Amino acid sequence: MQTIKKTTINIGIIGAGSGGTELINILHRYQPVTISVVSDRDKDAPGLLLAKRLRIPTTTDYKKIKKGDIDILIDVTGDSNVAKDMLEFRRSGIEVIGGASAKFIWQLIEEQSANREEIERLLFEYQSLYDIALKLTSSEDLDRLCNIIVEYATLLTNTPAGSLVMFDEKAGEMSLVASKGFSKGFQKRMRWKLRRTGLTSNILNQTNPLVIFDVNSYPNFDNPVMIKEGVASLMAVPLISEGKIMGILYADDFKPRNFTPRETSILALLSKIAALVIEKTRLFEKARLMAITDELTGLYNHRHFLQQLTLEIDRTKRYERPLSFLMVDIDHFKHYNDTNGHLAGNELLREFGHILQDYCRSADIVARYGGEEFAVIMPETDQKKGKSMAERLRKVVEGYNFEAREKQPNGKLTISIGFSSYPSNASSSFELIEKADKALYRAKEGGRNRVCISNEKPR
Ligand code: GH3
Ligand code: MG
Ligand code: MG
Repeated sequence: MQTIKKTTINIGIIGAGSGGTELINILHRYQPVTISVVSDRDKDAPGLLLAKRLRIPTTTDYKKIKKGDIDILIDVTGDSNVAKDMLEFRRSGIEVIGGASAKFIWQLIEEQSANREEIERLLFEYQSLYDIALKLTSSEDLDRLCNIIVEYATLLTNTPAGSLVMFDEKAGEMSLVASKGFSKGFQKRMRWKLRRTGLTSNILNQTNPLVIFDVNSYPNFDNPVMIKEGVASLMAVPLISEGKIMGILYADDFKPRNFTPRETSILALLSKIAALVIEKTRLFEKARLMAITDELTGLYNHRHFLQQLTLEIDRTKRYERPLSFLMVDIDHFKHYNDTNGHLAGNELLREFGHILQDYCRSADIVARYGGEEFAVIMPETDQKKGKSMAERLRKVVEGYNFEAREKQPNGKLTISIGFSSYPSNASSSFELIEKADKALYRAKEGGRNRVCISNEKPR
């Protein structure tokens, strides 16, 4: 029977610069080999540090290497004095690889390490694309998405800076939505008009990335902001979804440089993913808005109003803040419809919606409650302030020159308002609405064109 002898080859490496380091990297993963010692005169040589990390014995003097421990010595120093000293090891039966043979091995290894780097780079790219696809599909916040896209664009193209600008076709404008690596001034949301001759137009006119190795030798590079930021080279690719240009993704460097074909193609790939995801997110956002908006007036609809009121009341209670609530009803609207037609009635509702929205503050929540009734939630507004805002609103509407207002019963178009507030009248959203509704009824009973305040105490 044949016995299989387990053999490992013990190798010593002389010279721990970049060559020796690569050699350690490769040989230490190679099963049949044990690296028994690494030697370099310089105790801080990178290969010595690596060897220590891998728990391989090291020395700064190869003469101290014990001859019995070694089968093969590889001398990568290229130093003739070292080569002479190697004779001593040869004589004691150790195989020494140096000079041209070491160089040959070194070349093989260099090639292998280049391949390995290539494979690692590819793996990194695939991993990144996978990560980005996950991140992009799991977030619905457009700002966050845009930042992720720029982050990966720079990561995958080895660039220190990048940005994403969106194209508003109707306005013919570009706006910066995300950036990395630029000054604070640059980061502020910028908008600018698209010029047909500028660099931007050049980018938008092609589907492949535009690559500029050095902006000084690019005739159309006239973007003052980028020049000020010190951009010296860049790649730019349009984001296109279903044939429509949505924006541009940039990867920038502050020194002239080459971009490899892979860097260009991965940016192009990234731009395709980005365009799809941005489009999807915009559609979602549009659908979400449609679900909470009243179609005729563009104000919030009844359902969303109820949700918001509940949220606001919760917040108001938690922080012990006041809140005012208005129920607004157009007076004699049926008369307006009957006199001017249903379509004119719709037009009036739309116009009134705009006036109401313009009049209210940005923190107020304005909704169409139903028909010709509207609701306004005024957070952080106490009874006194809310009352005066309601009264002013009534006057604004009374004085507004609505179409055909003179045909209304008292010669003008007016509104009645029922007012309630937290904590004076109500302790729940339901109670707030109920009290405002009752107050509105009193306003109508009392002759319309007036504000009535609920004077009931909370239950
Ligand atoms: P009051 O002063 O008591 O509020 O009288 P009013 O005529 O405004 O109230 P009423 O409740 O009698 O009539 C409301 C009218 O609003 C009836 C309805 O046809 C009309 N209306 C409801 N929704 C719409 C709409 O979307 N478009 C139009 N054009 N009319 C609507
Ligand atoms: Mg009415
Ligand atoms: Mg009504």
